[in-house]
Amino acid sequence: TETYPSVKRDSKFKHLSSEDITFFQSILSQQELLLASDQDNLEFYNEDWMRKYKGQSSLVLRPKTVKKVSQILKYCNDNHIAVVPQGGNTGLVGGSVPVFDEVILSLNYLNQIRDFDPVSGILKCDAGVILENADQFLAEHGYIFPLDLGAKGSCHVGGVVATNAGGLRLLRYGSLHGSVLGLEVVLPNGAIVSSMHALRKDNTGYDLKQLFIGSEGTIGVITGVSILTPPRPNAFNVSFLALENFQAVQNVFVKAKKDLAEVLSAFEFMDSYSQDLTRKHLENINHPFEEEHPFYVLIETSGSNKEHDDAKLEAFLESVIEEGLVVDGVVAQDETEFRNLWQWRELIPESAQANGGVYKYDISLPLKDLYSLVEAANQRLEQLGILGDVPKPVIRAIGYGHVGDGNLHLNVAVREYSKQVEEALEPFIYEFISSKKGSISAEHGLGFQKKNYIGFTKTEPEIRLIKDLKHHYDPNGILNPYKYV
Ligand code: FAD
Repeated sequence: TETYPSVKRDSKFKHLSSEDITFFQSILSQQELLLASDQDNLEFYNEDWMRKYKGQSSLVLRPKTVKKVSQILKYCNDNHIAVVPQGGNTGLVGGSVPVFDEVILSLNYLNQIRDFDPVSGILKCDAGVILENADQFLAEHGYIFPLDLGAKGSCHVGGVVATNAGGLRLLRYGSLHGSVLGLEVVLPNGAIVSSMHALRKDNTGYDLKQLFIGSEGTIGVITGVSILTPPRPNAFNVSFLALENFQAVQNVFVKAKKDLAEVLSAFEFMDSYSQDLTRKHLENINHPFEEEHPFYVLIETSGSNKEHDDAKLEAFLESVIEEGLVVDGVVAQDETEFRNLWQWRELIPESAQANGGVYKYDISLPLKDLYSLVEAANQRLEQLGILGDVPKPVIRAIGYGHVGDGNLHLNVAVREYSKQVEEALEPFIYEFISSKKGSISAEHGLGFQKKNYIGFTKTEPEIRLIKDLKHHYDPNGILNPYKYV
């Protein structure tokens, strides 16, 4: 309990007894249940991806059927046992791990594809299917998962729905609020609500599934997902561009939307600091540009006709260079170069973390103000005298992200986590965002990290409605306590 001195374990939650363990053992196989005696295995489930949040759960349940999920939740609800639903444990706000001794309900073994309709492109699968596996399955049928992100090798389909993840292709395929057609959810009282619809249009009553998209495991456990998937493009291009300032990034974005139009599938930006850290992390691989530039943009196109896309991209590049918006650029010539260029964007999170730790802020701001937060953060850290070479704790605040969606990832790379750095950053960053009418969480959610700061983005009446809903669905508060609101 020393881990979070500012939060107290809620005494309404029962401490696990041997009878509880006996009950779980009566419904689960040995493989589906991990106990504290199995310390090595529990470590992974108790600690988050950033190694920043760590709980002390002594029990991980990994049911293989929806019925077992229902039995577990009903038992926990009846006995006031707190539960943390967990997918691939790649979440970045401390939502997927226990705060104290909550039971971890992992969806790892609920991992089957249920159905796929090659005419409509509708996929139905268990929540625990790993995102990359779902995408590979779809590739065999000529379709693509309408969401892609750096954690795809570990995160679950259910996990991305529970966090309403955005990712690299939201620009093209839109939010999960649009593509998810139905969900199967187990409520805290054990009721299985099956609405695995495969209808694009259905105006019969409230659209209940929307409540669970982005609910971060606080009102129900998602066990099944029905999602509309688009045809897989067969022609891909990626270009990596160097720019002199953030105004040029915005101008190139406007032009890309207009000139590349329907084939534009990603528009990502990165600042020089983020590339600096990534160059150091990938020391044996050459960066696309020898020289450093203040900003970089990665543009991906994808479509059905390579010649058509090539011609569009070529004309676009010629014109942005002619207009002086872009100072240098490369285009991937084959699959390997395509992957190599993408890695300069996708490996930033890992590189930012590699020197000890990283404070992550995933935020939305009006596009014109997007980069000003990185500048303000560096300025503040410098003024406080905590940014610089060893022994200063902070290496740099870096900025990158899905600029096409007005979404900035501000990462503060540190040599170690400390209260001093945290206090320098919070609430400063949230106040800055609020003053510019942005959102303190664009896509990672609130989890444990941002729970106290929701008021910087949502109004009091909105927070009250969220609390009312939480109380309605989870009156005993057993699901993911100490998080969200
Ligand atoms: P977990 O981390 O296990 O859980 C996340 C939250 O969802 C927790 O609150 C948990 O309780 C809840 N939850 C999980 N599964 C269920 C379920 N079945 N039912 C109910 N609740 C559940 N996110 C983005 O949005 N865009 C990005 O571009 C992006 N890039 C990333 C890159 C890297 C390298 C990493 C490590 C993370 C990135 N993330 C990104 C964050 C993270 O991958 C996403 O939030 C992802 O959706 C989490 O999925 P998960 O299965 O790992 O869920």
